[in-house]
Amino acid sequence: MDERPLTVAAVRSVGPDAIAIDFETPASFDAQPGQFVKLTLSVDGAEESRFYTISSPDVTETFEVTVGIDPEGDVAPVLADLAAGDEVRATGPFGSDYYEGEPRAVLLTGGPGIGPGIGIAERALDEGNEAVLVYRDDEPIHEDRLAALRERGATVHVLGDDDPLGAVVDEVTADGGQLFIYGFADFIDAATGALEAAGVGTEDAKIENFG
Ligand SMILES: Cc1cc2nc3c(=O)[nH]c(=O)nc-3n(C[C@H](O)[C@H](O)[C@H](O)COP(=O)(O)OP(=O)(O)OC[C@H]3O[C@@H](n4cnc5c(N)ncnc54)[C@H](O)[C@@H]3O)c2cc1C
Repeated sequence: MDERPLTVAAVRSVGPDAIAIDFETPASFDAQPGQFVKLTLSVDGAEESRFYTISSPDVTETFEVTVGIDPEGDVAPVLADLAAGDEVRATGPFGSDYYEGEPRAVLLTGGPGIGPGIGIAERALDEGNEAVLVYRDDEPIHEDRLAALRERGATVHVLGDDDPLGAVVDEVTADGGQLFIYGFADFIDAATGALEAAGVGTEDAKIENFG
């Protein structure tokens, strides 16, 4: 899809070294939580592009991405300095591993992978479906939305980075459902390893590797 300008509606801290950015939804832009966009912006005079995954349950009027910030990173700290009214350029949406109305969403997420995890869980509940969310991170973010999901009836497990995934993966996959896995490569490897050890096939899992 052609590159287009995106206007920032708001930038919010959502926990340690993490922000959520709301963008005004451009005309004719349609996307689902779990799809991603490519954002391009000027960093120290050079054009830089990175991918970010939609973390809002829908894209009506605005849509959100959640960004984990390494202060040494090139792009994420620049995104954190954006303010309402600023513009970046975007292409997308991209990706086929997103929520499509499945009756039971089983979401395994690590680090900023919680963004699409939360967006999909919220969307599933909005549609009267079931959401089961596993989130591994030593410094959890989006805690208000995790609490709201629990209150609405979602199952939410928060684990530390060194906690084993095996027992919780056994538990959350026992009743089936569509698997979604989002995060950086080390988390994807840990999650698929835990699924294989539990005897759960990953051929039909929707997996998005952040790199
Ligand atoms: C399809 C796709 C979707 C993505 N969606 C998101 C998203 O929704 N939210 C998000 O925050 N990022 C997402 N990313 C990653 C994002 O595009 C950037 O790579 C990230 O923000 C780092 O960019 P940077 O310029 O700040 O860091 P760079 O200057 O590119 O430096 C690399 C940095 O990336 C991070 N990083 C790289 N590998 C790992 C790892 N294994 N574990 C933890 N951190 C690592 C570290 O902070 C590291 O310092 C996605 C990537 C892809 C390919």
